[in-house]
Amino acid sequence: MIPTPYGGRLVERVLSGPEQERRGSEASQLPLLRPGEDAIYDAEKIGTGAYSPLEGFAGSAELEGILGRSRLTNGLPWTIPILLAPGGRENAAIVDGLRPSDEVAIADLQGRPFAVVKVEEIFPIDRKAIAQSVYGTTDPSHPNVADLAELGDRAISGPVTLLRRLELPAAKFEHTPREAREIFARHGWKSVAAYQARNPPHTAHEYIQRLTLEREDVDALFVQPVVGKLKKGDYRPDVILRAYAAFVDHYYRPDRVLLGSLSITMRYAGPKAALFYAIVRRNYGCSHYIVGRDQAGVGTFYDPYACHRIFDEFDVGVVPLRYRETFHCGVCGGMVSDKVCPHPPDRRISTSQTSIRAKLLEGAPLPPEIIRPEVARVLSGGDVINR
Ligand SMILES: [Zn+2]
Repeated sequence: MIPTPYGGRLVERVLSGPEQERRGSEASQLPLLRPGEDAIYDAEKIGTGAYSPLEGFAGSAELEGILGRSRLTNGLPWTIPILLAPGGRENAAIVDGLRPSDEVAIADLQGRPFAVVKVEEIFPIDRKAIAQSVYGTTDPSHPNVADLAELGDRAISGPVTLLRRLELPAAKFEHTPREAREIFARHGWKSVAAYQARNPPHTAHEYIQRLTLEREDVDALFVQPVVGKLKKGDYRPDVILRAYAAFVDHYYRPDRVLLGSLSITMRYAGPKAALFYAIVRRNYGCSHYIVGRDQAGVGTFYDPYACHRIFDEFDVGVVPLRYRETFHCGVCGGMVSDKVCPHPPDRRISTSQTSIRAKLLEGAPLPPEIIRPEVARVLSGGDVINR
């Protein structure tokens, strides 16, 4: 069955009709916070219910529960705190003037008000303690730890109301949870496996997607790359989506696979991020969640299979589908894992993004064993890396 949203109810806090007009003109009179991209994307995801049961940004008790016990105050497992703590002097001056029960507007990526927060609490945060608890490190070379350092030293909690959706470059693919659930229902899909991605597809991704689609207990696949703010050196969001669109169009049945996008800041928190992404996909209507090797990892910060084990510790109402590392073996003649393939490592072709990017930079051809030609054409099309 299509699972209920996490916590039992889909949060939807997007205004429409006359209320949207009225609140929109009122919002132009409110103080306007200009947070970083992370919080802008998060505000939208709260409002559309991708983060159900969250109705707003975290308060001090909720933050403490997430950092200490990986749980919300209602007891549900939750691993990534969703904070509004904008940095910079102008934002600090606005925060100085705020009191509980005030309203404050949040600017979108273009600087215009798009959401309103009803202030519940203004409280100091310890950015290093958050980094240590969520990301397991305070090393500034970790991209999310660097982002945390840019935040202010006070957070504002309270429910979020969206005056409108964000205008996103990936709008065509950016379903709301309600929209995704409606598409699943239209197809008659009862069990949908989510595939979390942050790179263009290569044949190791394809392999575990196909293994998933062949399962008796899975009707369909929802491929949903994270394409919000990424770190330097990542593929550009439009490149990831063009590559995936070319791939899905050529190799998958439209009645079995849906391509979406998830515009948020990628959280490279290894196991904690894997659990968070599974919860988010449950809100989109997915019953199963694919977890590969070192999901949501970066560098060597996480044990590559910790993202598998966290699902033994916490039940978030999604079936984890755990896959080991896979590679192309020249002797086997296809994608395999070391559970199956007896051949020496020198007969393997690695699908690591590092080796793919190195080939792209050299202008060397991408071997069809690891990249489909339709995807290779997109990746070879010039400026594809986020600088
Ligand atoms: Zn082999």
